[in-house]
Amino acid sequence: MRQPFTYEALPARVIFGEGTLGALPYEVERLDLKRVLVLSTREQASHGHRVADLLGARAAGIFAGARMHTPSDVTDAAIAEIQQRDADGVVAIGGGSTTGLAKAIALRTDLPQIVIPTTYAGSEVTPILGETRNGQKSTQRSLKVPPEVVIYDVDLTLGLPVALSVTSGLNAIAHAAEALYSQTRNPVIALMAEDGIRALLAALPGIVADPADKSSRSDALYGAWLCGTCLGAVGMALHHKLCHTLGGTFDLPHAETHSVILPHALAYNLTAAPSARDCLARVTGSDDPAMALHRFARSLGAPTSLRELGMPEDSIEHAADLALQSPYWNPRPIERGGIVELLARAWAGAAPNPDREANPAYQNQ
Ligand code: NAD
Repeated sequence: MRQPFTYEALPARVIFGEGTLGALPYEVERLDLKRVLVLSTREQASHGHRVADLLGARAAGIFAGARMHTPSDVTDAAIAEIQQRDADGVVAIGGGSTTGLAKAIALRTDLPQIVIPTTYAGSEVTPILGETRNGQKSTQRSLKVPPEVVIYDVDLTLGLPVALSVTSGLNAIAHAAEALYSQTRNPVIALMAEDGIRALLAALPGIVADPADKSSRSDALYGAWLCGTCLGAVGMALHHKLCHTLGGTFDLPHAETHSVILPHALAYNLTAAPSARDCLARVTGSDDPAMALHRFARSLGAPTSLRELGMPEDSIEHAADLALQSPYWNPRPIERGGIVELLARAWAGAAPNPDREANPAYQNQ
């Protein structure tokens, strides 16, 4: 008997392939945009210049000031630039930080956006926007923020540093893993989640071995799209709540925090989420997917402890209290003792499953 579900698809125009950046002038014209402001981070200003060159007279200029966690003063500055240059749309090239800026601009101005993602964060296909104002991060969902067009160009990801590729890929896997046991899960998203995780699990070792390997890069970007779509379509739970709390409170790096927490959140939740556990067992080839993901992350050189990300040990209890502050749905009830234990293990970089860790029968799994 199938579980009842509600499925709601977001409108999306997604262009995927190699060299697809070349489609940008057509896409700008298709939206009838005359002067777009190009957005990037300072580090990716050269990507911004490449886009502006490609657009010629249809580029109103470059704003290379996007920053992590979408600070509202950066959005103010970008909107001032839009007004000054009389721009009628934005083109964002970069990771979740640059995409966040485009979405924040769209929320306030309704201007059309074209987003060209260069990491695996997945923000480009979600209606979610996290913004920071006066040091406080708040997150909202709005149908004003998904971009009109997303252009995935595998070539633009070849230079993504290996360490960021790995953590960004694990960040994407986390979206899909939580979608599998979401309160609002549905069969279409479950298909996307399984294929997205499978693609990333296959791709990341290939990227570590050869960062310029187009086949692995292509699989990773495809997986990122699917996993991002899962994040945008259904509600998240403990893992995302913990990462959001830790990132905001202790200023921990986004993708790395996801990498560390994921196996621990899964170890906590999968006992209460049998269909998600079965799916993750299929894709990892292990009857203990949490442990398998912990080993996978370690084998790729990803951080496995909150300690190495700079979180103080004496803040574990405080972090647990914060994570318990506002109630949210989770497949397994949120219980303080269990969360403190989870955070303590994640802080120390211990394996997620203490029973298995102690059992010699599982030591090579
Ligand atoms: P990022 O966008 O902050 O990028 C990290 C650094 O890598 C930046 O300096 C960037 O310019 C650089 N970079 C990106 N792509 C590159 C490439 N191909 N080559 C070389 N350098 C490159 O990191 P991220 O992990 O993609 O995004 C994190 C942010 O996105 C966080 O603020 C997070 O909250 C947000 N996010 C939002 C959603 C959502 O749905 N709203 C989803 C995921 C992430």
